[in-house]
Amino acid sequence: MTIKVNEIFHSIQGESSRAGLPCVFVRLTGCNLRCAYCDTTYAYEQGALMEIAEILQQVRQLRCDLVEVTGGEPLLQTETPRLIAALLNAGHTVLLETNGSLDIGIVDQRCVRIVDIKCPSSAMAGQNDLDNLGKLGERDELKFVVGTREDYEFARHILSTIPAGKCGVNFSPVFGAVDPRSLAGWILEDRLPVRLNLQLHKILWGPETRGV
Ligand code: SF4
Repeated sequence: MTIKVNEIFHSIQGESSRAGLPCVFVRLTGCNLRCAYCDTTYAYEQGALMEIAEILQQVRQLRCDLVEVTGGEPLLQTETPRLIAALLNAGHTVLLETNGSLDIGIVDQRCVRIVDIKCPSSAMAGQNDLDNLGKLGERDELKFVVGTREDYEFARHILSTIPAGKCGVNFSPVFGAVDPRSLAGWILEDRLPVRLNLQLHKILWGPETRGV
């Protein structure tokens, strides 16, 4: 069974509790959403079919424990849970970055599931599968990409519907859309127990650079 892969590369994890750590990224092809601010449109179609064993071999050659399976939307491909299990069985710590519109319950519990909740400025908030909130465990994380004050208030409301401390929570400003200092101020003012993420990879290499 094959999986369509857009790119595999070694870089710095940019936006989760692992931000700053070296990480191998396995970016899978295809996405069912079209977020207004999407910065990975090249992953909608481009890619090559690979066997899981081939992917594992390329990952192994990059000599890094931490691996993130991302997209596009990785859960669109039926073989993705098998890829994640194979990476876990090979001894990797595995993060899955998913857009929150599909069921995360099919993914191995050992995987750290980083689940986006789409905010209004993405134009995709109607696609959130909020049943995923009840499936999150302690090791999992939520991610809100915040482009406006309205987005921030939407995210704050979603958080008020789940138990405090249920999982890690990340707020990332949309690059170039909201001043990160404003977002920091709102978080501090409301005493929200969330992590402010600044998309380190974009600060380091610029917003347009691919494969870093
Ligand atoms: S879910 Fe991610 S890859 Fe898909 S359109 Fe939105 S930002 Fe782009």
